[in-house]
Amino acid sequence: MQATIAVLSGDGIGPEVVSHATRLLAAIAEKRGHQFRFVHGLIGGIAIDETGDPLPPETVAICEDADAILLGAVGGPKWSDPTATVQPERGLLGLRQHFGLFANLRPVKTYPALAAQAPLRADLLQDIDILFVRELVSGIYFGERQEQGAGDVSYDTMTYTSAQVEQVANVAFRAAQGRRGKLCSVDKANVLASMRLWRRTVVALHEEYADVELEHLLVDAATMHLLTRPGSFDVIVAGNMFGDILSDEASVLAGSLGMLPSASLRADNFGLYEPVHGTAPDIAGRGIANPIGMFLSAALLLRYSLRLDDEASAIEAAVDAALADGLRTADIASADETPVSTDEFAAAVLARIETS
Ligand code: NAD
Repeated sequence: MQATIAVLSGDGIGPEVVSHATRLLAAIAEKRGHQFRFVHGLIGGIAIDETGDPLPPETVAICEDADAILLGAVGGPKWSDPTATVQPERGLLGLRQHFGLFANLRPVKTYPALAAQAPLRADLLQDIDILFVRELVSGIYFGERQEQGAGDVSYDTMTYTSAQVEQVANVAFRAAQGRRGKLCSVDKANVLASMRLWRRTVVALHEEYADVELEHLLVDAATMHLLTRPGSFDVIVAGNMFGDILSDEASVLAGSLGMLPSASLRADNFGLYEPVHGTAPDIAGRGIANPIGMFLSAALLLRYSLRLDDEASAIEAAVDAALADGLRTADIASADETPVSTDEFAAAVLARIETS
């Protein structure tokens, strides 16, 4: 197949991990007879430096012409002055909103070889394979707000319509059908009106997905269940803020933030793919970043936007094989293991793809 991929490397370790991911995608394309065209654009801090705009119109145009977007990360101390008129993060939020990417998918898996890196007991980390589906363009992050009014009052508003809940819940139900058939919906229906609408909508939609086993958890209970029975979850769907917090909590199960991929999707195949981590300014430029979150994001791009499931699995299998063979970047190496560099880990994954 032919596909155009918009590549937005961003800041910090973004370019370090994105460059290896595009090489991996090019290798997969060559091996399986596809033609991928990579078109590069600016976003975040580097875009502010070069154009004054964290999301220049040329970047939006590149993304509009593409089948999918591959993104590194944006931000860093250089642009972190909160009083600055433009912030790198605006570039990312702008992209999500411009393309209406309402469903954020974050798979969290544990690797037996990395159990020692995680803060939970090894027996609790068996067989963890959770897919978070977070609503991304509504809820309290986008509701009416007042920074500071008369009498020192500030507020944010959590608003959901049933249509907004339905579209993200549909993604979650369908994902559960393609996995182990279980969906956990997280809300705060005992206190919040918007969350009672969330629950009513999910319950009504369940009639169309009778083959999926549905469970509801209040968000406070969900934080505990994630740590006491993480292996029992399949797909978890939550609103914007609860999904943000819970998926970050779950990220520690994988051993390092550097391991986790994400996909932000709309109803067609178009999507934005990026690792969960940020620009890691403390290690940027040292060649030691873990590229796994970026590689697994490239795999999600193949699976969801290009519908190339075998090719996606090939990347995931190559990452698994490199880990099983003992290769570790610094963030996942234990005291008695010698870490490899980003380049070495990436070369090992590439070699496993080429020989697969
Ligand atoms: P971070 O994810 O950049 O780093 C947190 C810690 O995890 C650091 O110690 C870092 O070294 C480590 N880490 C992260 N990714 C790693 C990797 N691939 N390999 C090895 N170690 C890794 O989060 P932060 O420090 O809170 O934020 C730094 C900057 O990134 C900020 O400007 C923030 O706004 C931005 N950020 C951007 C995104 C995004 O672009 N989606 C997400 C989060 C943070």
